[in-house]
Amino acid sequence: MKISVIGCGYLGAVHASAMAELGHEVVGIDTDAPKVAMLASGRAPFFEPGLPETLRSAIDSGRLRFSTDIADAAGSRVHFIAVGTPQQPGSNAADLRYVEAAVQSLLPQLAAGDLVVGKSTVPVGTAARLAEPIEASGATLAWNPEFLREGFAVQDTVRPDRLVYGVPSGEAGERAVNLLNEVYASAVVARTPLVVTDYATAELVKVAANAFLATKISFINAMAEIAEVTGADVTQLADAIGFDSRIGRKFLNAGVGFGGGCLPKDIRAFTARAEELGRGDSVTFLKEVDSINLRRRQRVVDLAVTALGDRLHGAKVAVLGLSFKPHSDDVRDSPALDVAVRLHGLGADVVAIDPEAVENARARHPQLGYSTDLEQTLRDADVVVLVTEWPQFREIDPVWAATLARGRTIIDGRNTLDATGWRDAGWTYLGLGRP
Ligand code: NAD
Repeated sequence: MKISVIGCGYLGAVHASAMAELGHEVVGIDTDAPKVAMLASGRAPFFEPGLPETLRSAIDSGRLRFSTDIADAAGSRVHFIAVGTPQQPGSNAADLRYVEAAVQSLLPQLAAGDLVVGKSTVPVGTAARLAEPIEASGATLAWNPEFLREGFAVQDTVRPDRLVYGVPSGEAGERAVNLLNEVYASAVVARTPLVVTDYATAELVKVAANAFLATKISFINAMAEIAEVTGADVTQLADAIGFDSRIGRKFLNAGVGFGGGCLPKDIRAFTARAEELGRGDSVTFLKEVDSINLRRRQRVVDLAVTALGDRLHGAKVAVLGLSFKPHSDDVRDSPALDVAVRLHGLGADVVAIDPEAVENARARHPQLGYSTDLEQTLRDADVVVLVTEWPQFREIDPVWAATLARGRTIIDGRNTLDATGWRDAGWTYLGLGRP
């Protein structure tokens, strides 16, 4: 199948590479010329495990190329829209200008019978609106939300846990389903659960899934807040309720909360869209989910301030982690970077380390101190704050760390360290929602 992928960021670059690896002939198109040049030379423009190998192999096979010219989409039968839908500045709503521009630029390239497939996360109602000009070109629009997890993006794209096709009714819809089944032939053969539905449901599936996950995280973080004033241990509480198969233990790790390029902006955009639809009340709880999430960042800052006896000026704070989660270099709305920025704003001498995200963080916040050397980061630190649970931070030997740091307080913003081991090595261990 000849495929174009418009927008080659975290989603599109992986999608284009994975589709080529699956045997399709793919052109990835992006307006960002340096990004296209990197991709075309086989280099991944961001850190994603497995992407460099997949990209290289797909380019070497001759089935994958990249371009800045939308005219190169002509001739493809299926066109994926994978551009960004960030939060609008000064509003909770999604900024749809990139999706609209991508569709506008694609229209002149479409041939009768082509299928345009939206993968970007959009407010419900967007697909119905975009379908009109696409149908006027003789093509069909489907909405096929993406559920990949950064850090596992390649495997999630090659072997998705479910497929959702939002298609129009009638013959055009049937043709869309057949084409998508051809694109995802390997997943279809593997009997991946498939939901064929209308546009609105497909759009809502994605934001509902992210709203649910965000709510689950903020639920356990709310329990952490209660645990903090009662002396209870939220990690044991999570284990105990997680044994109930109706609840499940996944996404019940209390800590500094969620971030990244999806969950925060998706729940805000959902709230804004529900308000537009006159149903703001239905998702008012998502505002509380957001507030709980942001409060946890402040909780980590407060613990550090208390540990330093309110003497932040001149105090060195070692911040372990900058990406919003391990195995990613993505610092968009990262709780880790936010904590570092807040501590710096209070006057602390912050030195932050991350295996992959230092350059992305530096580009956004050049005022912070950065290091790529763990020993240098820990040396003379008055307090150590772990905010992203990279394996290399979880494996730090507390006895070794004690030989370097000046202070003896470790704040475990992810409840991931062995509290007993750190205490036995002479540290004051502070978790979130733990005594
Ligand atoms: P991103 O910012 O990394 O990538 C977007 C890309 O689109 C950029 O490279 C940008 O240059 C390009 N672009 C913008 N306008 C363009 C245009 N008119 N023509 C061609 N290219 C254009 O964003 P992302 O994280 O890849 O997210 C893309 C979409 O996928 C968003 O809607 C997001 O919510 C959704 N999504 C992302 C993930 C994820 O894990 N990152 C997962 C599921 C869904």
